[in-house]
Amino acid sequence: MPGMSDESTSPRPRRVIGIDLGGTKLAAGVVSDDLVVHHRAHRFSRGADQSEILDRLVEVVDELRVQNEGEDPIEAVGMGIPSLIDQAAGRAVTTVNLPLEDVPIRDLMNERLGLPVAIDNDANVAALAEQRFGAARGKQDVVLLTLGTGVGGGVVIGGKGFRGATGSGAELGHMTVLADGPPCQGGCPNRGCLETMCSGTAIARDAEAAARANPDGTLGRLLGEGREITGPLVTELADGGDEQSLSVLARAGFYLGTGIVSLVNIFNPEAVVIGGGAAAAGELMLGPAREVVRERALSPNKDLCEIVPARFGAEAGMLGAAVLAFDECLGGIAPAGGR
Ligand SMILES: [Zn+2]
Repeated sequence: MPGMSDESTSPRPRRVIGIDLGGTKLAAGVVSDDLVVHHRAHRFSRGADQSEILDRLVEVVDELRVQNEGEDPIEAVGMGIPSLIDQAAGRAVTTVNLPLEDVPIRDLMNERLGLPVAIDNDANVAALAEQRFGAARGKQDVVLLTLGTGVGGGVVIGGKGFRGATGSGAELGHMTVLADGPPCQGGCPNRGCLETMCSGTAIARDAEAAARANPDGTLGRLLGEGREITGPLVTELADGGDEQSLSVLARAGFYLGTGIVSLVNIFNPEAVVIGGGAAAAGELMLGPAREVVRERALSPNKDLCEIVPARFGAEAGMLGAAVLAFDECLGGIAPAGGR
């Protein structure tokens, strides 16, 4: 099995830097090929312009190189970015929540760092981390959905990340689940995308509507007191048994399941992994989602497929970016020991 190491003959572990460039912060780490994180560095990305973002990327790599001095050398850099990507050109074409538009980020970083650089969409790399070392470890065909402000998607087919013709595929959050549903966010011209029905933003929107419709309910009272209705608040109330909050999450779970039905039918995955902040609602959403899949997806696809919570939380993007660097720049890794 490629990557399996024999203790007596295995060379020193190889190290790369994985960088998760998010809309709020940039998280980076020195990661070895057993996916152990040896050093970490962070910067804020919110409010930065394009050249500041590029500078901060260089800064974290320099900081990590200093921390890593005297240890196994850093051989490559992988970056997960919240962008639609042109892989042939190594270009971030458009980016959600950051001013990166039409930037040849791979070559720019390669030039400034003097290391091989690989880039991919942040959800695509999170899918790689879950498939290689996480909730879907040992499986070859895996779909990942990350429920956050939006809904990110990643698809691994035969152990390899799927990217589409130019590199901007697997935008699973923009799969239509309600054709005449609410308008989508950002640059998406569609309506009723999965993202408009089960993201953290959608949960907060539906809960606020429920609060206005029923001012005497718990949500309504909190809104009346000036509380902001957020996804985490809805989850907290639902955990405490609030009926309205439970029904908001069940509705989001229903649409999540509706999207998963299509993914299960199309990709025949062994697992659909659900991550991201809004996945904190856990079974309150996954339960209804599984029920829809049980009722509506095709057999045998649905009989094989597990719908499971992600293993990696906030570090999924950084770890996945490291896996990407190993895959693209150093000939790949497969899970051996380690985590
Ligand atoms: Zn959309």
